[in-house]
Amino acid sequence: MFTKKLGFGLMRLPLNDPADRHSVNMEELKRMVDTFLDKGFNYFDTAYVYANSEDSIKEALVKRHPRERYKLATKMPLLNLKEPGDQERIFNEQVARTGLDYFDAYLLHNIGVQNYKIAQQFGCFDFIKQKKKEGVIRQIGFSHHDSAELLDEILNAHPETDFVQLQINYLDWDNKSIQSGKCYEVAQKHHKPVIVMEPVKGGTLANVPEKAALLFKNHHPELSAAAWAIRYAASLDGVTGVLSGMSNMEQMLDNTGFMQDFKPLTDDERAVIANAISTIKESIAIPCTGCNYCVKDCPKNIAIPNFFALYNNVKLQPPLPFYIEGLYYSRFTETHSKASDCIKCKRCERACPQYLGIVNYLKDVTQIFEKK
Ligand code: SF4
Ligand code: SF4
Repeated sequence: MFTKKLGFGLMRLPLNDPADRHSVNMEELKRMVDTFLDKGFNYFDTAYVYANSEDSIKEALVKRHPRERYKLATKMPLLNLKEPGDQERIFNEQVARTGLDYFDAYLLHNIGVQNYKIAQQFGCFDFIKQKKKEGVIRQIGFSHHDSAELLDEILNAHPETDFVQLQINYLDWDNKSIQSGKCYEVAQKHHKPVIVMEPVKGGTLANVPEKAALLFKNHHPELSAAAWAIRYAASLDGVTGVLSGMSNMEQMLDNTGFMQDFKPLTDDERAVIANAISTIKESIAIPCTGCNYCVKDCPKNIAIPNFFALYNNVKLQPPLPFYIEGLYYSRFTETHSKASDCIKCKRCERACPQYLGIVNYLKDVTQIFEKK
């Protein structure tokens, strides 16, 4: 589906007013779409729940370029399904919003424990299979934000899936909660092509700490930090494309520049990234090693190391109105207690070989993930 290994993610469109996610700067978006196509790229990724995204891409792309020049993917918002008939209604809305008579790729959006239940309850996999049969969807898949174990379960139950969309970047590769690496391995085991989302972690890996930035600059003065992150994801076997949520022309020119003639990472470059990871992790807020010793005696079944891993990720990012980690946090609270449920018995602290002040750290976690 991808002519080149970079896709245009349409979640963070250029805006006229940065405080208003609906104020899409259409002229800038049109220029970006044209540039993207002119440079030989073709894949666009939108979703029902991205503010004004499906309508905007109709104006900037669908109405202005021949159908054979591009591929467009969109997604079914599982959380919006409340009653039978909702799927058909939403799908028809998406057809109207985008102005397309078929989607090149269609995903069940944001699968995790809870959303998988919704997908089962509403027969969503059958729904998209049927649409594929009718020719209004060409390839079916789902975006996954949960454990490798659940991904394995879903792919066993739904071998008809054409591809999976995974959050993969070099910082989340070993993250205990996000499990980029483990999820990638599951997809490989099932021989499913992978489309990568969040290769730059919502912009975090475009603005790495100074020491890591220097490592990159010393090796390739001309490359941005984002280039390293996107090339890392694109270099993995089985990855057909990497989505980058480009929000302005500067990002568009940067990303398309190094991806136009994509070259996988060399061994030397991999070593540079390994060093950068160590450097970035030095600025980690909670030095939890993920050993799990604290978990087994916790009377409240709190996912302590998982919460800390998510918290650490948030702390590496600039202040944002929304953190993807919040999604993972909600997922964990479906099967575990919340950080705020801690009764301060300190059994965990007695078990922790790093002598961490877990109870206080859980208060910090609560502040970030449970504030309304
Ligand atoms: S202090 Fe809180 S987190 Fe630690 S074991 Fe007790 S309830 Fe669990
Ligand atoms: S025992 Fe300490 S270091 Fe190990 S997972 Fe728990 S908090 Fe982290």
